[in-house]
Amino acid sequence: MRRIIIVSPHPDDAIIGAYQILMKKASEIDIFYLESDFGCETEVNCLQQKTNVGAHHFEDRSLLRDALRSSVGEISHIIAPDPYWDTHLEHRLCGAIAIDVALVFGINLIQYSTRMNAPYVRPLEASVAEKKKDLLNFVHPSQESLWKYDYRFWLFEGNIQWIDQGCL
Ligand SMILES: [Zn+2]
Repeated sequence: MRRIIIVSPHPDDAIIGAYQILMKKASEIDIFYLESDFGCETEVNCLQQKTNVGAHHFEDRSLLRDALRSSVGEISHIIAPDPYWDTHLEHRLCGAIAIDVALVFGINLIQYSTRMNAPYVRPLEASVAEKKKDLLNFVHPSQESLWKYDYRFWLFEGNIQWIDQGCL
């Protein structure tokens, strides 16, 4: 079966931006992370205690891009930050790489927002939002104050299918 790749510049981006897909399709998902200062491996291990996603780390963006390009035959969808709405430079750069690979190789591309400022972001059902908050607290306890005082990260979510060759 072809795999779904979530490009997650930092360890928390995949959960913040693509929680619903993550929960629905975990067994088909590999997350591509950039190395970061967040203590990535520990947090990724926590996520893998709760879901059976695959996880891969890349030390820089060019290695991430090469990995996407060399595995296009095995990829059904790339899910990546939306460079138009996201304000974080690293998210925008990773999102641009995903667009490039998806366009060149004709792969489905779904974009997500971590800033919750995009027009396709919607409130989550209350029960889903609570579970998302619980997962963020479990996987990323060092960011606890963020989840506690900035509700948008778990109350809202949205994505847009930008290159569509079959919905998820
Ligand atoms: Zn991030």
